[in-house]
Amino acid sequence: MTPRWWAVLTLGVLAVALLAVALLVIPWQRPPAPRADQVDALATLPQDRVAQAREFRSTLRPATWGGLALGLVVALLLGLTPLGARLVELCGRPFDGHWVAQALLGGFAVVLVADVFTLPIAAWRHTVLVRYGLSTQGWAGWAADLARSYAVSAVIGGLVLLGFYALTRFAPQWWWAFGAAGAATLVVLLSFVVPVLVEPVFNRFTPMAGGPLRTELMQLAARDGVPVREVLVADASRRTRAVNAYVSGLGPTRRIVVYDTLLEEATPGEVTSVVAHELGHARDNDVLIGTALGALGTAAAVVALYLLGAWTGLLRAAGAGDIGEPRAIALVLAVVAVAGLVTSPFQAFVSRRIEARADAHALALTGDPATFEAMQARLSTVNLGDPDPPRWEYLYGATHPSTVERMAAARAYARGER
Ligand SMILES: [Zn+2]
Repeated sequence: MTPRWWAVLTLGVLAVALLAVALLVIPWQRPPAPRADQVDALATLPQDRVAQAREFRSTLRPATWGGLALGLVVALLLGLTPLGARLVELCGRPFDGHWVAQALLGGFAVVLVADVFTLPIAAWRHTVLVRYGLSTQGWAGWAADLARSYAVSAVIGGLVLLGFYALTRFAPQWWWAFGAAGAATLVVLLSFVVPVLVEPVFNRFTPMAGGPLRTELMQLAARDGVPVREVLVADASRRTRAVNAYVSGLGPTRRIVVYDTLLEEATPGEVTSVVAHELGHARDNDVLIGTALGALGTAAAVVALYLLGAWTGLLRAAGAGDIGEPRAIALVLAVVAVAGLVTSPFQAFVSRRIEARADAHALALTGDPATFEAMQARLSTVNLGDPDPPRWEYLYGATHPSTVERMAAARAYARGER
């Protein structure tokens, strides 16, 4: 059997594994959230704030979708014409076309060219966030955040580029196999290290100060059977007025984080409701589920990329001879961009189901649907979220059920519907 047939077989096995894991671990059934309850819930929200949120979202909309479209057009222009290959060659020229220079500098150059076009949109976006009072950052803080995220991307991206092109160079027939294993390992590794290595680049985390709320939250975690050493508070107020909480990490690096803005804005009962939702994620191992799906998906993507390399017309368009050479970086990035756009609705769908389960967990754990509903209303009001967003936008990219769905789920819970 040739390496190509092995790759086809591996891709098939990975696809079946991905499907099996998805079928087994994703909570497919949807908790009840009748539309009538959603409409009623919407009417209870402060209407001036809902109108402002909708105005805010529609102001951002052209930039969001325009930016996505522009990013795609630039990626396709670089990847499906010889422009990208020429840029990579140019970057390697001072180093006699050495593959390391082509891979690292070429990779960075292709990404930077795309960023030149989308950066003004990001800057404009920031002005809108400031205008609506959501961002507390000046330009210096905004630029510092940008520099930090570039630095983090450069480290991770540099490792990926070096690793990938070392494999294609030294195992030209079998790089896809090592690459798939390496990519899956990297996804798992990142889940472990992001909370301790990457998140502190952007925020400072301090254990929640002792007091009745902390005692309450620790008791809640104990009652839930989730071992939590600390609830961490992030200094999110340095850049935003938005309130949030999340759980990240795996095993020893698992942590529950609440924004300092949440402690400032919400009542202790609402904070408890938020943490109960995060405990649901911890209890159901949602980070692990996301990591497993991500690892399998990334591994499959590497093998699919190798198989796509048999499409000579595509390579010719990109001005490259082989999908595994650095000159094809722009082509690979274009494929990744298209794959990201196409898979986004599926990822959002899976995420919404997992979030709905964490909501159901919060309701069961606290037994307090009224406070849960108040918390959802607060989240939406403070964060200027559209509580009932346009259907197409929701289906394409909403990672959480809408605010009115979450409020309606609380109402159904209160009636005894589970
Ligand atoms: Zn969640």
